[in-house]
Amino acid sequence: MSTLWHVLGAGSLGTLWATRLARAGLPVRLILRDQTRLASYLAAPGLTLVEQGQAHTYPVIAETPDSREPIRRLLVACKAYDAEGAIAQLAQRLTPDAELILLQNGLGSQDAVAAQLPHARCIFASSTEGAFRESNGRVVFAGHGYTWLGDANHPLPPLWLDELHAAGIPHEWSADILTRLWRKLALNCAINPLTVLHHCRNGGLHDHQCEVATLCAELTQLLECCGQPAAAQDLQTEVERVIQATAANYSSMYQDVANGRRTEISYLLGYACRAALRHQLNLPHLQQLQVRLVNHLNAHGLPSD
Ligand code: NAP
Repeated sequence: MSTLWHVLGAGSLGTLWATRLARAGLPVRLILRDQTRLASYLAAPGLTLVEQGQAHTYPVIAETPDSREPIRRLLVACKAYDAEGAIAQLAQRLTPDAELILLQNGLGSQDAVAAQLPHARCIFASSTEGAFRESNGRVVFAGHGYTWLGDANHPLPPLWLDELHAAGIPHEWSADILTRLWRKLALNCAINPLTVLHHCRNGGLHDHQCEVATLCAELTQLLECCGQPAAAQDLQTEVERVIQATAANYSSMYQDVANGRRTEISYLLGYACRAALRHQLNLPHLQQLQVRLVNHLNAHGLPSD
């Protein structure tokens, strides 16, 4: 009998994972925020995944954090700013051999969770899959991609990677997950805040090449100083490639701001600026970018942390 997959958060990625695991016949349990969320979830027939225009509904069982069942395997699928608080609510239920998979973007939330749970195995993930919530309980699989998983403290992959394979979740065990997370953070810092400030699609940054190049130079310095030389390699070339390849897209930060949603700034640009400060690195353009972004968020009534 396979271990029960607890999935914390029935948002875009949580639903994308839970439905594919359930489709493969694996046992899955959703953990929803509170009784109100549970009641509205129970009013629907389950979780719906829309893939290539086809919708399929899976009757995944759900519970709230105060349920008593022990948790051995937990997929943490909330936003970075919610992860630490959400895990604190579940700490009592985690078994001594519990494993957590942390899907959060950026850096900082993973270490905060791991510090809370010194005995649990925390596996970090970096995903290029894309999904969005059409309505509560209904998620559209918008972009196929890959998920890299890794554990900086423990190089051996867990046996349950076979279950991801069975569920059709494209993945790879990565020996250098921190390099991947840092690289993604740097790409995000070079692109996303500027799309918000210039109010443009990613391709609109073609008109701001100097600004992008200056940020890439500072981010390269930061990565090297933080012991991440592999993440720094040819950063500017990759940023330009991503801008070109995703020219028609709005960045996730742009979409958050446009929809009045809290951004993950503190785990992306904020994390980068705090790291620079810790290393006493003077990166004026990156710091100025943070000031401009914080002012912009405040002006739109959005949190800047
Ligand atoms: P999302 O759609 O906003 O979903 C987050 C879910 O977490 C929401 O359903 C939220 O519940 C739930 N949640 C928050 N606190 C909770 C708690 N204490 N207990 C139970 N549930 C809780 O976010 P997402 O887009 O899936 O993103 C999750 C992470 O993956 C982010 O770090 C994001 O950057 C990263 N990521 C996302 C994508 C993507 O395509 N979506 C791609 C790559 C990486 P409520 O509905 O009650 O607020």
